[in-house]
Amino acid sequence: MARVASRCREILGGEAVITDPVRLRTYECDGLTYHRATPGVVVLPETAEQIAAIVRACNEHAVPFVARGSGTGLSGGALPRTDGVLIVTSRMRRILSIDLPSRRAIVEPGVTNLAITEAVRDEGFYYAPDPSSQQICSIGGNVAENSGGAHCLKYGFTVNHIEACEIVTPDGDIVELSRMDPGYDLLGAFVGSEGTLGIATKITVRLTCTPEAVTTLLAAFEDIESGGRAVSAIIGAGVVPAAIEMMDALSIEAAEAAVACGYPEGAGAVLVVELDGPLAEVERQYYQVERLCLDSGAFELRVAQDAAERAAIWKGRKSAFAAVGRISPAYLVQDGVVPRTALPRVLAGIDELSREYGIRVANVFHAGDGNLHPLVLFDDEEEGAGERAELVSGRILDLCIEHGGSITGEHGVGVDKSRYMTRMFSDEDLDTMQLVRCAFDPDNLSNPGKVFPTPRLCGEAPGVRKGVHPLVASGQAELF
Ligand SMILES: Cc1cc2nc3c(=O)[nH]c(=O)nc-3n(C[C@H](O)[C@H](O)[C@H](O)COP(=O)(O)OP(=O)(O)OC[C@H]3O[C@@H](n4cnc5c(N)ncnc54)[C@H](O)[C@@H]3O)c2cc1C
Repeated sequence: MARVASRCREILGGEAVITDPVRLRTYECDGLTYHRATPGVVVLPETAEQIAAIVRACNEHAVPFVARGSGTGLSGGALPRTDGVLIVTSRMRRILSIDLPSRRAIVEPGVTNLAITEAVRDEGFYYAPDPSSQQICSIGGNVAENSGGAHCLKYGFTVNHIEACEIVTPDGDIVELSRMDPGYDLLGAFVGSEGTLGIATKITVRLTCTPEAVTTLLAAFEDIESGGRAVSAIIGAGVVPAAIEMMDALSIEAAEAAVACGYPEGAGAVLVVELDGPLAEVERQYYQVERLCLDSGAFELRVAQDAAERAAIWKGRKSAFAAVGRISPAYLVQDGVVPRTALPRVLAGIDELSREYGIRVANVFHAGDGNLHPLVLFDDEEEGAGERAELVSGRILDLCIEHGGSITGEHGVGVDKSRYMTRMFSDEDLDTMQLVRCAFDPDNLSNPGKVFPTPRLCGEAPGVRKGVHPLVASGQAELF
């Protein structure tokens, strides 16, 4: 580590290399604060060439490295290694070019998601994927996590909006992956690879035209089942809203306490439905959605008349994660996904689990694409409550799998969910995924310990394991 740190100083200058133990602690976790580790060294590069040189130094001394954007990840993907280098892209924030006729922008990885939209908004364009963290999260982090957001129901996830990526490979080469490349879709493999296949250093994003009209509607229901019926009815009628978000009674209570969003009193669930597109189409769809909500049992409907009212409707939803802090001393944010039609059964199952373990669960979700974000509330002062919350959290993922869903919708696997991968995938599946990883990173240096529960070393033959895996023996991996 000392040799790598000293080489980093040569590459970057001393000011961009952090080894002071107090300053290192700033980087000890991402948005999942449950997992913490103080990084060996933190570096703040400004160019791809600097990152490549740092990665080569890591290779020379077999030191692992982890990329970090803004550190808002919710699965511990940017959790550093105590024996490794944390490569932070926060100084790489330039928008390098904007090509409106081609609807493309080329940006550095540390540029925030919202900054792209702000740069092109006046020209009638925006960057469509909109994680709720968009004011802070970086586009490099979005690429690594294949991030979603409320409007991804209609417009698709990050992977649908990335045209090309310059990356530093895990052995320190700078290469370009492009959607135009013939052969295997390596760009597709890279997007969502959570920093395990290299570091994105330049990203070409697709820009979307601002729609002619936007209508935002808030519908209040007595219970979550009626809200769920409305979602199925809307999608079943062939309407694809830009967003359909649902909040249950507990999350409404939290949002009310935090931001006084003024949602209808007595609501057991609210739906935020946003329609966008050509004016005539939005008007027609609005009447359809209004009718379907009323038929499904909505007792109050509000339509935003202007941008301020639209923001007011979104305020409660956008603040929901943080707002839960108002009604609980601690909570876990879960992220699972199920087929839309399974939503009522899965929500009923979550309710049963909540009663069984005496743990409250608030539900906020991207209802249109079945992406649940149960917030599992607990009191961290109470003995055993954290463990119970973890258990409930894991059982919620089991429910998602049982109903044909997945252990993550958009927050990634990271360090947090690697232990659940075996619930979804067989050893053979995981070995096959490892082949892809090993093709990029044969020495397992790029964000090791993330995504895979018990990584085989590259070159190790798949088959029944006869003894303790070397990574388990060395304490770098754990069997669950
Ligand atoms: C309040 C809140 C709301 C959120 N809402 C959403 C939401 O609606 N939808 C959603 O999908 N997510 C959401 N998230 C999660 C998070 O914001 C996203 O996962 C985001 O993409 C992370 O970006 P980041 O820059 O913070 O990445 P980090 O947390 O720094 O890193 C995330 C992962 O990306 C890797 N990485 C970072 N930069 C690079 C790079 N240049 N090259 C290769 N790998 C890299 C890291 O190693 C790590 O594995 C939310 C988080 C919070 C705190």
